[in-house]
Amino acid sequence: MSENTTPITIAIDGYSSSGKSSMAKKLARTIGYRYIDSGAMYRAVTLYAMRHGMIAPDHSVDAEALAKALPEIHIDFKVEGDAQATLLNGENVESEIRSMPVSSNVSPVAAIPAVRHALVEMQQSLGRSKGIVMDGRDIGTTVFPDAEMKVFVTASPQTRAQRRLAELIAKGSQTTFEEVLANVVERDHIDETRAESPLRKAPDAFLLDNSEMTPDMQNRVLLDLYHRTIAGSR
Ligand code: C5P
Repeated sequence: MSENTTPITIAIDGYSSSGKSSMAKKLARTIGYRYIDSGAMYRAVTLYAMRHGMIAPDHSVDAEALAKALPEIHIDFKVEGDAQATLLNGENVESEIRSMPVSSNVSPVAAIPAVRHALVEMQQSLGRSKGIVMDGRDIGTTVFPDAEMKVFVTASPQTRAQRRLAELIAKGSQTTFEEVLANVVERDHIDETRAESPLRKAPDAFLLDNSEMTPDMQNRVLLDLYHRTIAGSR
């Protein structure tokens, strides 16, 4: 680790496509911490459910079948230089889990209590030795309620949809702004209203609205917060 300090836990939560993964990844690289994208884990479970015919065209999920299959779903991360790939039962599914069909099905899957329990347990075991930056929706509230540093990231739905559209187009996707905006709004709604650990800002999380910020600005805010946190916990 770059800093000679006791490692801490950093939880970065927020809305869909708020840029939290990019900033979490950048912070982890700068301070020599491990980065875990918890959304990728929900996406991998969703892909498994789609491939096994557990999700209907109206996005309803056969929760019972999926709960039964959970012990057969193994998720790992492979680090290749600066990039990180998500493995589903050993297969690299990094690009497939970012597709629109997976994005359209992931929030109903993530609302299933059995799925959340299994993934939260995995996430907690990944963070046991600290020195970790994890991003998601419930990291500061449920996964690591005692995290030393918590951030909640937001931006307007239009800003977030525009950023997501640019990413998808860069990858060759044919999607439209309206489709992406509808998906962002729909996922926010499901994530905020589900019964099991809904998307909420933890009371002790730092609120970061990055609508008007460049990536460099938000990275500086985060790094500064990290330095203040470790200075305060010495
Ligand atoms: O972060 P990302 O947008 O890739 O997450 C995909 C979906 O996974 C979210 O819309 C949410 O439904 C779910 N999720 C969650 N809890 C997390 C991370 C993601 O419910 N900790």
